[in-house]
Amino acid sequence: MSIAFGPAGNADSFAAAGYKSSKDAPEFLRGMGLNAYEYQCGNGVTVKEQGARSIGENAKRFGVRLSIHAPYYISMSGEDDAKRLGSLKYFLQCGEVAHWMGAGRVIFHPGGLGKSTREEALERSLDTLRYVIREMDGAGFGDVALCPEVMGKINQVGTLEEVIAMCRLDERLIPCVDFGHLNARTMGSLAAVEAFDRALGAMENALGRERASRFHVHFSKIQYGKGGEIRHLTFEDTEFGPDFSLLAEALVKRGYEPTVICESAGTQAEDAAAMMRIYEDKKKLLSESV
Ligand SMILES: [Zn+2]
Repeated sequence: MSIAFGPAGNADSFAAAGYKSSKDAPEFLRGMGLNAYEYQCGNGVTVKEQGARSIGENAKRFGVRLSIHAPYYISMSGEDDAKRLGSLKYFLQCGEVAHWMGAGRVIFHPGGLGKSTREEALERSLDTLRYVIREMDGAGFGDVALCPEVMGKINQVGTLEEVIAMCRLDERLIPCVDFGHLNARTMGSLAAVEAFDRALGAMENALGRERASRFHVHFSKIQYGKGGEIRHLTFEDTEFGPDFSLLAEALVKRGYEPTVICESAGTQAEDAAAMMRIYEDKKKLLSESV
């Protein structure tokens, strides 16, 4: 798999250009030189089979790689067993949509800590995930890669280490490293190429180079405070970061080729295109300097 860049959902410019339906997103993105698109089911899996299939057909036609963001209310870590195991139905829905669209990955948020310790919440998340994997296999969705996401708030399961621990359960699990979230929950630790490289190294040590190299990236600048994430910004921000050129350098040096999804607020397609340019420039620069 080669590196790919694209937005999470539709940027403001999509509607401004007169587009109304997500089935036209692949054509729009292709026009911007982009080649990935994360379809949003954050508020529920409501897309119908025909709609999903036309998005998939257009994605194929315009060379756009698809992934799906699962509902935000999934809670792998929940204290109520019925509720946490009930998350399964959202995974099954996402699995079905993934098959309709030809999307390879489903990204999900592990859940909150509630009144538990980090260790207890992670244990419950792992237990739920084992169950979800078994049931997804049983339903014929074993080919869909599940991606637990690094989360931005301190009181959520989803440190980089917790996401890696989840991914060790099964080969089909791929880390979704949201570097804006990681930077927010570590109070701005991603301020140098070395800091990004350490995160990549931690993944590679635990999961092996092959899987680490094709991981999933969420990237946006995010405002944070003492609880971690406050809100998603755009690349216009100069205060909070992180700076994509630092990650681009770390990726090029390691030869990693992830799927990179931009979650800027409203300018996610433009900012994804900016990341693609930054990455290409870095690659050219570093190859000339060898
Ligand atoms: Zn997310």
